Amino acid sequence: MQENTIKPVKNQVKVQQIRHLSESVYVLRFDRNGLSFEAGQHVILGLASKNNGREYSVYSGEQDDFFEVLIKEVQEGDISRKLRKVQPGDLLEMDGPLGFFTLDPDQVLTKKFVFIATGTGIAPFSSFVKSVPGLDYKILHGVRFGHEAIERENYDAARFHLCTSGDGSGDFHGRVTDYLTTNPADKNSEYYLCGNVKMIHQAFDILKEKGISSDQMHAEVYF
Ligand SMILES: Cc1cc2nc3c(=O)[nH]c(=O)nc-3n(C[C@H](O)[C@H](O)[C@H](O)COP(=O)(O)OP(=O)(O)OC[C@H]3O[C@@H](n4cnc5c(N)ncnc54)[C@H](O)[C@@H]3O)c2cc1C
Repeated sequence: MQENTIKPVKNQVKVQQIRHLSESVYVLRFDRNGLSFEAGQHVILGLASKNNGREYSVYSGEQDDFFEVLIKEVQEGDISRKLRKVQPGDLLEMDGPLGFFTLDPDQVLTKKFVFIATGTGIAPFSSFVKSVPGLDYKILHGVRFGHEAIERENYDAARFHLCTSGDGSGDFHGRVTDYLTTNPADKNSEYYLCGNVKMIHQAFDILKEKGISSDQMHAEVYF
């Protein structure tokens, strides 16, 4: 019998644009090329032929004719530093879309949503908001300083709460977990949590204490 030598082929995607939002956070935009995804899913992106991909949530909306990811350059990191140096026209390797951190179609237009993010954990929420006009949401976005807010103009100002732990320039001075502790929790909302694992565990405990059931909480851990 002949040995099957066919290896899985990864998709190549072409960089259309790189948008630097701050010293360390940037957006990579790619030609969509028919990529179909559900808001909240992620892709695995890496340098061509290096087999070194990392997961990145899709930042753009389902209806956009391009797709984007939002990346923070991690100082000691390997791939996030290399991706920052790519140029329009470069080809990257991509797997996906993957993941189940998505909205339940039965709840989308009937439920209220609270999206809680730290740093680039806001990416899937950006995709939710861009993909579903009329979504009833509130965002708590945690960063250290006010200037680290990420394209907050993309959200309805009344629904967006920037929580700054390092200075008082946000809408709330403190971490997202402090906001949750000091404000009532809406028992009729679905809670989506995305970012670092410490925040997610703490927020989960605070919300549980306030009467939110585990079924109402959905989490995506980045690191
Ligand atoms: C499902 C999923 C979706 C993700 N989506 C995104 C996204 O949309 N945007 C994004 O920027 N990252 C995202 N990440 C994290 C991303 O996959 C990489 O871990 C990150 O870019 C670091 O990769 P690196 O090769 O530069 O660092 P590595 O060399 O792999 O790791 C270096 C260290 O950095 C830590 N680290 C990882 N991410 C961060 C961070 N944001 N801040 C501080 N330390 C960190 C790791 O724990 C590790 O200890 C996601 C992760 C998962 C699992």
